[in-house]
Amino acid sequence: MPSQNFFDEQHPEPSIVLDEHKHSSKKEKRKFLSSTQAAVVLTVMVVAAAGVVFVWGMKSPARTPKETFDIPDSLSQQMVESVNSEQPEATPAPTPDPIPRNEWYMKLVNAENPLPDDYGEQEMTAFGGGYYFDERIIESLEQMLNAADEADVSLKIISGYRGVERQTARNEDEIAAYERRGYSEQDARDLAAMEEPPYLQCEHSLGLAVDLMDSGSDTTSIAFEETEEFAWLQEHAAEYGFILRYPADKVEITGMVYEPWHYRYVGIEQAQKIKESGLCLEEYLGQSAE
Ligand SMILES: [Zn+2]
Repeated sequence: MPSQNFFDEQHPEPSIVLDEHKHSSKKEKRKFLSSTQAAVVLTVMVVAAAGVVFVWGMKSPARTPKETFDIPDSLSQQMVESVNSEQPEATPAPTPDPIPRNEWYMKLVNAENPLPDDYGEQEMTAFGGGYYFDERIIESLEQMLNAADEADVSLKIISGYRGVERQTARNEDEIAAYERRGYSEQDARDLAAMEEPPYLQCEHSLGLAVDLMDSGSDTTSIAFEETEEFAWLQEHAAEYGFILRYPADKVEITGMVYEPWHYRYVGIEQAQKIKESGLCLEEYLGQSAE
């Protein structure tokens, strides 16, 4: 037994004491015996203490690595995944924004988000017989028009990029028209801005917007929404990266009247997401024009 070995090795005193007291009296012997008893008690305590230390010593260092190594890899992985999957909900701030709002094709222009004052005349690329666009959307626009053509739907470009002079004139003409109808200058400006905004507030200034009508029309008209051309655009424009920019039920948010003819390029992925969401661009970007 370990305790016996412990006694023999660690406490040889009793035998020495025994020798010294060979000829001592009973009383002394009793004393000795009591010393022995004390020694035994002490030894038991030391052994017990050593045992505790031993057990603690064995357990403690063993426990730490045991806890580490005993977790199966699959469980560790689950824990990591669990922590990762919970992270976006726990801390919404670091969640990556899925909307590429800084990309050129997501640029928002409206009364509340005008282009900078130094945004002057832009160099655009001609397409569609005298119309101009940002060259990056021309391929998509051409593909859309070709697809419509193949579906026996004949679309016609009515407007693209409009220069500073042209858009300023359209805005001023609109203001004058409202003033002639008796509106105050401020009201006339506000109403005109919903149809023909100043150059810096007009989406056409980006070169990313196109006004489309059926081939029989020369000007924009609300009646376009009754045509098969409009129906085709409603169904397919997003496949080419275009959205109906000013829907009838979003006038309060876009700050623009309903324009069934006005399409804006935002890229295929975003166009499809915006279409599915039922939101206008302002809502989608979380920036109301009002
Ligand atoms: Zn337009």
